[in-house]
Amino acid sequence: MSAELKALCELQTIDLALAKAQKQKASLDDGTSRKLLVDDTRQKVEQAEKSLHEATTELHDKELNLKTIETKQKQFKDKMYGGTVSNPKELESMEKEVEMLDRQKGKLEERILELYDIVESRKSDLANAQASLKQWEANLAGHLEKARQDAATLTARIQELTKAREQALPGLNPALVKRYESMRQRSGGVVVSKVEAENCSACHTQIITGLMRELQADKTISTCENCGRLLYLEH
Ligand SMILES: [Zn+2]
Repeated sequence: MSAELKALCELQTIDLALAKAQKQKASLDDGTSRKLLVDDTRQKVEQAEKSLHEATTELHDKELNLKTIETKQKQFKDKMYGGTVSNPKELESMEKEVEMLDRQKGKLEERILELYDIVESRKSDLANAQASLKQWEANLAGHLEKARQDAATLTARIQELTKAREQALPGLNPALVKRYESMRQRSGGVVVSKVEAENCSACHTQIITGLMRELQADKTISTCENCGRLLYLEH
């Protein structure tokens, strides 16, 4: 029986490798978490672009306002010192206007200085976000390429093992194969257990002397008293 069991053992090796390759293929990371990270970073870039745009728009507005005020002031001053206005009350009210415009100018200049800093800092935020996006995109692309290669390798391996299985089947005892198939599920794929140092290699139970003798005689198929697997003793 040992020759038949040996052949079955080879089939089992193929089946175990096949199950492993199928499991590996099914558990390949499709990059979902990395894609989410890329999307998230892309959103950050968009947000940074928006923030920068808001700051530069405000800066331009404020600079424009400042110019308008400076023009107004110049008009008042030209009038005041041009000698065309001699009414003291009118001059006084014009002076007040100029002072008021000065205060407005001061506030604007303060905000413009602040905005210079804000624009610089937002430019730097945007550059960082863009660099980060580039990095994550490269990471995702690299990962997807590797996953594609791994999937191709595993597909080839599965095809190879499936072919080996088909080639092995005709040389096997059909009754034994039937028994093997019926036991596969509940034995975790290991139906045939090699006897090593008088132990069942699957469940590590010692094999009693009587059973050892039976195995050595090699006339029947013996099973492990503990796990029920088919015992195979190499001759
Ligand atoms: Zn056992």
